[in-house]
Amino acid sequence: MNDSKYVYLDNAATTPMDPRVIDEITKHFNETYGNASSLHSLGNQAHQVLEKSREIVASLINSEKDDIFFTSSGTESDNMAIKGVALKNKERGNHIITSVIEHPAVENPCKELEKQGFDVTYLPVDYYGMISLDDLKKAITDKTILISIMFANNEIGTLEPIKEIGAIAKENDIIFHTDAVQAFGKIPIDVNEMNIDLLSASSHKLYGPKGVGMLYIRNQGKRKGWGNYIKPIMHGGGHEKKMRPSTENVPGIAGFAKAVELARDEMTEEIERQTKLRDKIIKTIIENIEETYLYGHPTIRLPNNVNIGFKYIEGESILLSLDLEGIGASTGSACSSKSLEPSHVLRGIGIKNEDAHGSLRITVGRFTTEEEVDYFLEKLSPIIEHLRKMSPLKEN
Ligand code: PLP
Repeated sequence: MNDSKYVYLDNAATTPMDPRVIDEITKHFNETYGNASSLHSLGNQAHQVLEKSREIVASLINSEKDDIFFTSSGTESDNMAIKGVALKNKERGNHIITSVIEHPAVENPCKELEKQGFDVTYLPVDYYGMISLDDLKKAITDKTILISIMFANNEIGTLEPIKEIGAIAKENDIIFHTDAVQAFGKIPIDVNEMNIDLLSASSHKLYGPKGVGMLYIRNQGKRKGWGNYIKPIMHGGGHEKKMRPSTENVPGIAGFAKAVELARDEMTEEIERQTKLRDKIIKTIIENIEETYLYGHPTIRLPNNVNIGFKYIEGESILLSLDLEGIGASTGSACSSKSLEPSHVLRGIGIKNEDAHGSLRITVGRFTTEEEVDYFLEKLSPIIEHLRKMSPLKEN
């Protein structure tokens, strides 16, 4: 298959790098190879690039530059935030609140902490995938130290009421972490307006390189009445103010910063453009293919996410048929799409197991064109019709 013709509709799993990011990284691989901790001029040059990158990343979420800590991934940032707060504050309290539809990068650290004696409340969500603020308020106890709720769901695209959650956390003096891996660079985020204390992001979701992430830590981990509220989970040298030791990946971080700059400067137009493509896909499928259901909130969702349930057939079969036509989509989150378990997110919004298997996630991106969307829509209907004809679940 000619890769240049491949229609890539799996931008939530990862994004291709923007050529402008590749240029930036290549430049730094050639020129900025010094260790940012070295005292000579090449080290100093690397240090300058690192600090400039920190400033650019901070600008996207209206944070202080020194509150940005570079990591290797969204998963690492989530682990640092959740375990870092839990382990630092176990004397203060052992209760954490999260939701049933978090990414495994949040869910599994929470499960691990449960084994260590922490109490975790997994808030339910409604049919659209939203937590209830009343449930959140009721779950808070005097032992609650951390609320971790995702900004946008990776499977169904629903946006959680982050500003309201932040206000509740602030009112109750609880630390608030949000996994913003899917939202960062796609929609506006303001950590001050939203009272976010900790925020995880990952470069490969916004046309930057893989292997680079960041954790925003308000006031660099100090809080009135708490002192230090987070401790490092890795120990080594003094990099990233000892929060995340290891020689910084300067070319990768510079590429991440370039990706952030592009996302920031092009966000308004991209939201409008991708929302139109998203809504065209939703409308065309729902109107033209019977017994299809939109999962996630109809409007309060990521501009690039579509998740549709097709009755009587398996998402995997749709996926394979699409792949043969040169189209890449997903059945759920990339991390779980190799398992046969139905998606915990779809089960979380109340979808029956047999229906959860028939879901397809289509995520458009910066390089998706309307022609590609039309090509996908044209190929999809006959695929669904064909698969349903063969389905033992459907009476034909
Ligand atoms: N959190 C969410 C919501 C995600 O979608 C992902 C990746 O799919 C991650 C965390 C993990 O990010 P990374 O792949 O950078 O470890």
